[in-house]
Amino acid sequence: MYRVRFHGRGGQGARVASKVLGTAAFLDGYYAQDFPLYGAERRGAPVAASTRISEDPIMERGVIPEPDIVIVMDETLLQDPLTMPVSGLKSGGIVLINTTRSQAEAKAEYKITAQVLTLDITKIGLDMLGMPILSTLAGGVAARIVGLSEESLTAAVKKVLAEIITDRKLLDKNVAAALYCFNAITPAKIELELKTTETIKKKSTVISLPFEHAEVSSPAINATGNTPLRMTGNWRVFRPAWNYDTCTRCMICVARCPDGCILVNEDGFPYTDYDNCKGCLICVEECPTNTLGKMREVHAKKAIGK
Ligand code: SF4
Ligand code: SF4
Repeated sequence: MYRVRFHGRGGQGARVASKVLGTAAFLDGYYAQDFPLYGAERRGAPVAASTRISEDPIMERGVIPEPDIVIVMDETLLQDPLTMPVSGLKSGGIVLINTTRSQAEAKAEYKITAQVLTLDITKIGLDMLGMPILSTLAGGVAARIVGLSEESLTAAVKKVLAEIITDRKLLDKNVAAALYCFNAITPAKIELELKTTETIKKKSTVISLPFEHAEVSSPAINATGNTPLRMTGNWRVFRPAWNYDTCTRCMICVARCPDGCILVNEDGFPYTDYDNCKGCLICVEECPTNTLGKMREVHAKKAIGK
């Protein structure tokens, strides 16, 4: 059995990625399970999703505490001590990281002992879809690592997206992007212990459900009064960029920012609190004078504390 865990940010599509992978596996003739685990339902909040794939009926349920494969859809999660995407990863397993770093750089930066693959999935999403939604792309790389077929991946993307979008062109772009990602990585050899249900049955007739302690398996508040230490701007794809030449100080951007993170300096000009700006770019859309532009963030930043 392959146990795959996706880690992403709310809005990136981790849940859909796990469903694309599970559906592709089913279409390739395997038993499959896929399901998400949400914390706070907020754009940018950490989200995990899991897929189990097996040649035998799957008797396990619940979160995957010891994955064979981890797909990290947002690099900044690797620095978040409350998320810990690679926790429990089996020796001989694989972690794929969405990053601009090389495999060697990522392995060294994040001190990962398992096999590391890297791909700038965000850039592919921006280039091919025009937006940083990575669901089908992450599903594509996972399908390649697991060893599924292109045909089943294509059919799975079409089936899953047909349930949530009606734009035919966007659906076709997602198929192309998923296949691009599928072919963009070189599959690594996975050295895993194969545990079929036959093995489990020999041990016990009772189904064993994996279980994590509450502080691991659910969102937790570990200390009170720590909200200001949590920098919600650590995960954005774009940041607003200022050019004050045309700013009229109308303050529309200040009023429209949903996170209240545009402040005003002593000269009366607005500026961004980049520690907490989530990169939604509403301010860019709303500015009547085009004072605000956008720049891509490419480097991981600290998740907690300054
Ligand atoms: S992108 Fe603009 S509107 Fe969005 S959170 Fe950042 S400053 Fe606020
Ligand atoms: S909306 Fe544009 S013009 Fe108005 S204060 Fe903000 S940046 Fe300046």
